[in-house]
This record gives sequence, C-alpha cells and structure tokens, in this order.
Amino acid sequence: MIDNTLNPQDKSSILIIYTGGTIGMREDPSDQTLKPFDFSQIMEEVPELRKFACRIDSYTFDPLIDSSDVEPSLWQSLASLIGERYDDYDGFVVLHGTDTMSYSASALSFMLDDLEKPVVFTGSQLPIGRPRTDGKENLVSAVEIASAKDAAGHALVPEVTIFFDSKLMRGNRTTKVSAEDFDAFRSPNIPPLAEAGISIRYNDRLIRHPKEYGRPLKVQTAMDTRVSILKVHPGITPQVVSNILLGAETRAVILETYGSGNAISKDWFIRLLKVAGDMGKVLVNVTQCLYGSVNMDIYATGRRLKEAGVVSGFDSTTESMLAKLFHLMGISPDNAWVKSKLEENLKGEISE
Ligand code: ASP
Repeated sequence: MIDNTLNPQDKSSILIIYTGGTIGMREDPSDQTLKPFDFSQIMEEVPELRKFACRIDSYTFDPLIDSSDVEPSLWQSLASLIGERYDDYDGFVVLHGTDTMSYSASALSFMLDDLEKPVVFTGSQLPIGRPRTDGKENLVSAVEIASAKDAAGHALVPEVTIFFDSKLMRGNRTTKVSAEDFDAFRSPNIPPLAEAGISIRYNDRLIRHPKEYGRPLKVQTAMDTRVSILKVHPGITPQVVSNILLGAETRAVILETYGSGNAISKDWFIRLLKVAGDMGKVLVNVTQCLYGSVNMDIYATGRRLKEAGVVSGFDSTTESMLAKLFHLMGISPDNAWVKSKLEENLKGEISE
C-alpha cells in the first residue's frame, strides 16, 4: 500500500519501502519481545524527513517481518515493486532488518539490471522510538543519498547500497559484523562509496554508473535456490562433506575455505569434490577471512581444489555468492554457463 505523501510541491520523489526489522519495532509489554509497528509511527518519530525538498511516499509490506524470516520471495516482491514504481520515483529506500540485509541487498543488486536510480537499504540496531536510536540518522541520511543528483540530473549513486552508521557501502560487498555496535556492517574489500559527516562525501571513483543512460530497467526475478554452503573446519568428517556435496537437492556448493582459498588436501576430500564435479555440480570457493581474496594458485592445497574443478569466488562475500548463484541458476539450467559467469564481475561484487 502507498501512503504518506509529503511536500507535494517538491522536486525529487522517494519511495520508502518498509519490510520490517528493528528500526520499526517496539516492545510488546505482554512478552517483552520486539515486534514491528506500522510506518505512520516511523514518520512521527522522524519529523526531520519533512524538511527534505522531496516528496516521500511509503509502501509497507504485509506482514512486516523480522529479517531472519526473509525468503527469496521477499526479494522477488521487492524487485518487482521497484520495477513497477521505477518511473514514479528518483530513488528507493528499503527499511530492512539488519540480520539478513547483506543477503537482500546482494540479491537485489543482481536482480536489477541497467539500474540508474539509487536503492538504499537501511535499518537500525535500536528501534526508532528509543532515545539513543541509530534509526533516525540512518533513515534521514539514506533518504538524502537516495535523492542526491548531479548537475545533469543523474543519481549520484545509481547502485543497490546499504547505509549504516554514517557509511554508504555497495550492498553486495557488505557483511554484518556486530550484533550490538551501531557500526554493524563492513565492506571489507572495497572502501565506502560515501561517508556522512557534516556533509555527505561521495567517493565517485568507486561508484558504478550506467554505461549508457535511458535504457529501461530490467527486473530478473527467476531464482534457483538449490545451493549449500560447506564451511571447512578441522575435524570435518567424510560423511558430513559427502552429505553436503552429493545431496540430490544440491545444484551448487559454496566452499568456505581457509585463508587464500585452502582446504583439506586429503584424498577423501578431493575425491568427493571430483565426484560432485562429475555429477555436474557447481563448486565455488570463497574465503572464511573477512579481508582478501581466494587465490588457488598459492598453496598446493588450493591448487588441488582448482584441479578438482572448483572455481574461484575471488573476494566475494558468502552473502553475495549465495545471491549470485540463486540468480544465475534461475536464469539458466546450464551449469557450465553458471560457472563461467561466477568468475565475472557482474555488479561490482568482486575486485578486478
Ligand atoms: N532481528 C532483526 C532483523 O533482522 C535485527 C535488526 O533489525 O537489527 O529484523
């Protein structure tokens, strides 16, 4: 539902899409747990939004959810909604819980092609009604960024991003790193696209702009979710590895490996990888480290993975790799094509 049109005389227009999350929750006195409340109360808590020279509309998802309950169907609804309203707004702000925000922002980055307008995710660690909330600052800055344009009238940041604790980050580069600090997200392998101080300083050198303006937005909502994640660890057993790699419901496996992409070099492990590869499964390597990239040519253990048919995810986050696989596998049943695309930088998710 669309409501709350403000300042109708103004020039930019922003759609705030409210999906749920702590930012819009308050304590239910019956059981002391946090539950979502409706968007009109968010607007009451943030009168600063009325000072912007822009029209702000809102769309509230029903039901509002804790983002721990996010499913790909929410990404499909979000992407479709942005597609339907694309021509009516200059930018979009998505209010979302922090727990899965990096997954959702990654997914949207792959689902929206030829994006020329900002899609800024934000949320908060403390509900917006609480005295020390981080929600107000996050929301107000997200709206400012979503409506920012250059002299030619083009959006300053035509990307899917996350704004949190004064930093604007490319969504598909982020990961949630803190359950309690306001500084809850990192973009370990690329600096912030903008930082908010007295003014908002945009790092234009890092921002992706369309090669050509005026192309219609393409929304790709097809997804195939048959992906498993195998986090290697000392003591992992052949049975566990076999269950994950060879499961009939698994079309692709993300190997979360050590350091620069190293895993167990024992024969049983490599043999299982080869069996999975021979079954046609997509095997991709991302590192458990926060910083740096997979390079399977440095150590013999990494080289063995490469020889077994594992492709590199370079410096992708796990969140971004999961979303990329869902998206690519949704487009094509051809696993060889999916593998070739995995090593390509599609939406700024890997460093070149
Ligand atoms: N569990 C909440 C959510 O992800 C946490 C938050 O929003 O910070 O919806």
